[in-house]
Amino acid sequence: MNREIEICERLQEVEERISSAASASGRTRSQITLIAVTKNFPVSDIAILKGLGVNDFGENRDSEASQKASEVKARWHFQGQIQSNKLKSICTWAEVIHSLDDLRHFELIQKFAPHPLDIFLQVNLDGLEHRGGGSIQSLYPLAEKVAADSHHSLVGLMAVAPLGIDVASSFENLQGLHEAFMRDFPMATKLSAGMSADFEIALSFGATHLRIGSEIMGSRYLGR
Ligand SMILES: *Cc1c(COP(=O)(O)O)cnc(C)c1O
Repeated sequence: MNREIEICERLQEVEERISSAASASGRTRSQITLIAVTKNFPVSDIAILKGLGVNDFGENRDSEASQKASEVKARWHFQGQIQSNKLKSICTWAEVIHSLDDLRHFELIQKFAPHPLDIFLQVNLDGLEHRGGGSIQSLYPLAEKVAADSHHSLVGLMAVAPLGIDVASSFENLQGLHEAFMRDFPMATKLSAGMSADFEIALSFGATHLRIGSEIMGSRYLGR
């Protein structure tokens, strides 16, 4: 099938599902931000999405993303695990960082970022270190530093549903953490949660930013 038609049809279906899940939770499509996760896909696919009106793209690796961002002007999001030695470069192309969990990384952002960033702090929902994110307790001191910065903005929390735990109870837990967090950090109104497999559940628990890859792009291993 023609790639443009394929992406267009997939996007349309995802858009319809977002709209109905948003209205089921008393919101409208315009209150939700869809980030097309384009990692492992070529820049030609990003150009197709851009032509279809998508302007938010998510990437996990600096080298891949900096190349793509130099070719397609859009709002670029970084959502991968942060490595200190990549952060200076990430700050040049990303406008939004979803995966901050370490004060030392924020100090590097303060030092190197050439423009203001929107920052989500990543919460770890399963207590295991390997998937990225910090415990909610560990994020409070970091949040205070980000909130106090006059240049960068603390916009909310981000999480990935842990493996092996019921997704709905994980996102319900996340929603509770986010509500408590907003009492201390009222500016942090955004919640980045929900991927291809679970975005409708995430929306039902207050997600405002969806990071969707394979449902829009198709399998990462077919046709390439
Ligand atoms: C890859 C990735 C996504 C998108 O995953 P899909 O299952 O392809 O929708 C979202 N968030 C993060 C952090 C990712 O690494």
